[in-house]
Amino acid sequence: MDRPALSVVIPCYNEAACLPALHARVSAAARAAVGDDHEIILINDGSRDDSWAVMQRLAAGDPRLVAINLSRNHGHQLALTAGLDLSAGAQILIIDADLQDPPELLGDMRRVMAEQDADVVYAVRRKRAGETLFKKATAAIFYRLLDRLTDTEIPLDTGDFRLMSRRALDAFLSLPEQARFIRGMVAWIGFRQVPFPYDRAERAAGETNYPFGKMLRLAFDAVTGFSTAPLRFASHAGLILTGVSMLLFVYIAIGWLSGSAVQGWTSTMAVTVFLGAVQMFVLGMIGEYLGRMYVEVKRRPLYLVADVAGPVKGRATLGF
Ligand code: UDP
Ligand code: MG
Repeated sequence: MDRPALSVVIPCYNEAACLPALHARVSAAARAAVGDDHEIILINDGSRDDSWAVMQRLAAGDPRLVAINLSRNHGHQLALTAGLDLSAGAQILIIDADLQDPPELLGDMRRVMAEQDADVVYAVRRKRAGETLFKKATAAIFYRLLDRLTDTEIPLDTGDFRLMSRRALDAFLSLPEQARFIRGMVAWIGFRQVPFPYDRAERAAGETNYPFGKMLRLAFDAVTGFSTAPLRFASHAGLILTGVSMLLFVYIAIGWLSGSAVQGWTSTMAVTVFLGAVQMFVLGMIGEYLGRMYVEVKRRPLYLVADVAGPVKGRATLGF
């Protein structure tokens, strides 16, 4: 196979304003690192602006650029999966389209990879410029909570910005799940993974495509994908409540035997309501997993490509 030294994979959703600067900077960084022997893969994740038109124009002027147009918005993690699946490079750099992750760090990341003989060099956010306090706080809490809930060691404060070796990427691509939390899946594959601290910049243009709802969904995928702690919690809670209700039963029996029964409407109601609420909660928890199992069993392709502009060198291993 015609394998370039480097693939840069970039998922894009409504990033038209960022694309020209992105292409220039990524292209310069890739050229500085490996010369012409690279490919840049842009995935248009069903953007509603004219990202695809801009991509096609850029692809026409750069034979190293591959633009992929997904059939609709599949979400960041699936768009990224599509790009990774279609990449061919011996090394693969994953980077956001909004230039929050400086492409110029590529050289240093490659050096760290070579020096430490690593398969994954993942960028850890030291500072996050231009992001709201809310975003930073929820992210900080999320990563720490995830760390406590999961057995897989998922690095703290790490996004998808990372450099991977081909064998690490192939290992990653062998994971077929639908609900994808990529930074967790990459941690799961193992090999030698080393952190690379950096300061996250502000968005070059546009605004975040990760509103609270999407963040919450990602968090749910992360927790359910990497932990059965909520299920365990459900069964523990069930066990404790069984104990409590047995004590209650003794109390009720004593009341009945001593002939002082009838009152107690309040306590009956309290118990009924409380148990009802707990049951709903536990059922909901089970439903979360059941729902995800349903989605997995359907075995749908992860993404669908509508158009391609430029030479695709990678072999699609997933999806189709
Ligand atoms: N993105 C995507 N599909 C989506 C949402 C986001 O491909 O449905 C891309 C987006 O273009 C960017 C990256 O995912 O390259 C990260 O998104 P964003 O910068 O909006 O997230 P934030 O940095 O605010 O967490
Ligand atoms: Mg961003």
